[in-house]
Amino acid sequence: MSAEIRIDAGRLWGSLMEMAKIGATPKGGVKRLTLTDLDRQGRDQFVSWCQAAGLSVSVDGVGNIFARRAGRNNALPPIVSGSHLDTQPSGGRFDGCYGVMAALEVARTFNERGIETEAPFEVAMWTNEEGSRFLPVMGASGAFAGAHTVEEILAARDLDGVSFGDALHAIGYAGTAPVGGRRLGAYFEAHIEQGPLLENTGNTVGVVTGALGQRWFEVTVRGMDAHAGPTPMHLRRDALYGASFLIQEVNRLAKLTEHSRGTVGMILNRPNSRNVVPGETQFSIDFRDTEVAGLDRMEQGIRAAAKKISDEQGLAIELRQTVFFPPCHFDAGCVAAVRAGAQQLGCRHMDIVSGAGHDAVHIAGVAPTAMIFVPCEGGISHNEIENAKPEDLVAGCNVLLQAVLEKAGR
Ligand SMILES: [Zn+2]
Repeated sequence: MSAEIRIDAGRLWGSLMEMAKIGATPKGGVKRLTLTDLDRQGRDQFVSWCQAAGLSVSVDGVGNIFARRAGRNNALPPIVSGSHLDTQPSGGRFDGCYGVMAALEVARTFNERGIETEAPFEVAMWTNEEGSRFLPVMGASGAFAGAHTVEEILAARDLDGVSFGDALHAIGYAGTAPVGGRRLGAYFEAHIEQGPLLENTGNTVGVVTGALGQRWFEVTVRGMDAHAGPTPMHLRRDALYGASFLIQEVNRLAKLTEHSRGTVGMILNRPNSRNVVPGETQFSIDFRDTEVAGLDRMEQGIRAAAKKISDEQGLAIELRQTVFFPPCHFDAGCVAAVRAGAQQLGCRHMDIVSGAGHDAVHIAGVAPTAMIFVPCEGGISHNEIENAKPEDLVAGCNVLLQAVLEKAGR
């Protein structure tokens, strides 16, 4: 039993607030886009803290950073914990940063308490989780897990035509360590929930059992531009009107089961003129579900609806899949370690499924993985007003420490 070991609450909060200064926005948020000079400053700060804690730092070929604390038996695969330091353009202080600082705080606490673990412990920082400057999202953890090739990641370009590889070189974090290809004993990621469930139920810790699968589509509806006055209703082929039925159907399909989500978040209408019947409408669909069968059900539903609308309204409708992440079920042993940690510490906790993607979803493909969620105010994230209570962040970090200790061994 090691429940008497506690992290240093003030030190964790201090590190979070110090990191939040790098790229701080006037509204109290953070803008630290991946592979920019601000990202370099954040990395430099993180690396200097790791070195001060006696950790040995390595950087791989896509800029992922690993800070290693030796164990008693260094032939064992390491227990790893971390997250990301990059943010959205109008990001908050905790998304990603919390998971990195919490893992660092665990290492610092081990140092302070003279705790030697059997397996080594590593703090990980994954490059470009957000995907806001370069696609794909979660690209560098994906490369580590073999879901993307290193070449594919390095070749990605931002809107100014700058490649990921050049940007990585420019900030001095093109490392020499091989990308992935090594065993991890376990991976834990602490993160703010980015949703309202923990707060609404009065829980401090979310024991994350997995993540929703995602299937995205780009839908193009083609009709014909026509004058809004002389063209009678029955002779129109109105693309936007047709699209409106499909948008309704996305929502109807997603409401049929508890664990389904369906969102139309982007729409382009042409020619987008007040007195022209729209000839072409493009929109996105983001379907999420705990099971592939659920994603299949919604896909079949929307394809059937598209066929019906196309026949009835004389429209050409095309659905192109753009993103697919299978649903992720975390490792039962790692999930149990998180739950046991929360129980030992007397934290109010609940099982929860992540609606968002995280680096942990990729790492789960190559190592036993689980996540720990803590509440964030109003469930708000990817927003400068993102906020979390210090005591909740501390509780999640203490649970992380327990889970790491259980897997690393003492
Ligand atoms: Zn994040």
